Amino acid sequence: KIRLDNVVKTFETFRAVHGVSLEIESGELVALLGPSGSGKTTILRMVAGLEYADAGHIYFGEEDATDIPVRDRGVGFVFQHYALFPHMTVAENIAFGMKVSKTRRDKATIDARVADLLRLVQLDGLAERFPGQISGGQRQRVALARALAVDPKVLLLDEPFGALDANVRRDLRRWLREIHQELGITTLFVTHDQEEALDLADRVVILDKGQIVQQGTPEEVCRNPASAFVMNFLGDTN
Ligand code: ATP
Repeated sequence: KIRLDNVVKTFETFRAVHGVSLEIESGELVALLGPSGSGKTTILRMVAGLEYADAGHIYFGEEDATDIPVRDRGVGFVFQHYALFPHMTVAENIAFGMKVSKTRRDKATIDARVADLLRLVQLDGLAERFPGQISGGQRQRVALARALAVDPKVLLLDEPFGALDANVRRDLRRWLREIHQELGITTLFVTHDQEEALDLADRVVILDKGQIVQQGTPEEVCRNPASAFVMNFLGDTN
């Protein structure tokens, strides 16, 4: 379980995150949804340990993780533009995290794990390709496999399908839901696409100007939008 308690982040004079408190249960898939500039990425980066909160606390289970550096947090992440290493094959990309991690693994263990992950992301057969030789959707699957390679406790996804076209996005959405069901890993997913959030998440957290304006299951927020902002943002689908 992850808990954010009154987290604040200011860039120079601009308050990007404005006292956010939020709980993500173990195994839950939560979408942070909001317009551009609402603070979604900043929140995700603070959970990852890529950015530090100015005030407030972030707990992983009982542990205060607020100041724990990224490599010790046990998180895996995939960003829209978190490019794969172009000079490494798919298999080498996936193995990369295991090779640099503190837990030493021998080659046979790494190879077996890479093969398992390739099966999980349904890319067996592409192990020896280079990123330039596979599609954008396949690249994001590889990025997810790489993120999962070190058995993270938490998976952080920032617009992972943002650069892909609508059909590929829909396929990947279905696929991510299946993977999430299979692994049951606590997942925080950032998107500005309401359809994506409502379709994918167990719970949706809607942000505006660095604050949470509503949270609930997709049904709850659609049936009972808390404000005109939420109603407009969800596309007035009621
Ligand atoms: P988007 O969907 O466009 O990525 P977002 O909701 O993820 O938006 P953030 O990226 O968290 O929003 O940014 C929130 C605000 O903080 C924005 O106004 C942004 O310009 C500002 N901001 C983010 N990072 C920095 C930084 N390193 N320095 C200065 N301002 C920043």
